Amino acid sequence: MAYNQTIMLTQYHVQIISDALADCFSPRALSAIATANNHQDRLSGQFGHNEYHVDNNAFKQSYDYIEEQRTLTVASLKANDAESAWFAFGRLTHTAHDFYAHSNYIDLWLSRFDGATPSAPTEIDPVDSTLLNHPNLHSGKVYYPLELFYFIKPLRRFVLSYIPRDSHAWMNLDSPEQGFKFDYAMQAAIKRTKIEFDKTTLGFSEEMCRLFLDK
Ligand SMILES: [Zn+2]
Repeated sequence: MAYNQTIMLTQYHVQIISDALADCFSPRALSAIATANNHQDRLSGQFGHNEYHVDNNAFKQSYDYIEEQRTLTVASLKANDAESAWFAFGRLTHTAHDFYAHSNYIDLWLSRFDGATPSAPTEIDPVDSTLLNHPNLHSGKVYYPLELFYFIKPLRRFVLSYIPRDSHAWMNLDSPEQGFKFDYAMQAAIKRTKIEFDKTTLGFSEEMCRLFLDK
């Protein structure tokens, strides 16, 4: 189905979570986090939920959503409900990943090299405060219905010639097909996931750690 390809594919979200967190969590916890992360891209999560995917310049809503899910993670652990905590943290990581795939953060970071060969993707700083507050930071607008036809490969070039440059279709870094910038989006998302993990677990009691990490 066409809409399935308007998103960072399941396999990349799973890979980011695994690369960032496999050493921290039990396989069962990691799997629950990955499942909740991917569930954000379900059909009903695609419409009216800019905050899940940082679409349409919904930065404030997306940052608020991350904090809401962090609060829920902590509250669930205090209620001895590890599964709800994993699901909330999985939803949190989805928004954190999509920030790099759907905004021009990577472009802004690369533009600092001004035509010279940029540093390797592993060198990217995912939370550079100058870039996070950059006046030109923006995310892709989803122009329905035209956006949907972008994902039918034979129509892609046709659609791109009509759809504005500030669209999700032009801006997304959802898969390796988008070129070398995809690797930067992946590395930024891996680092950001670790940062969100540290931020979320800061101040956890021993019991909360045991419950959350499940080992
Ligand atoms: Zn998404």
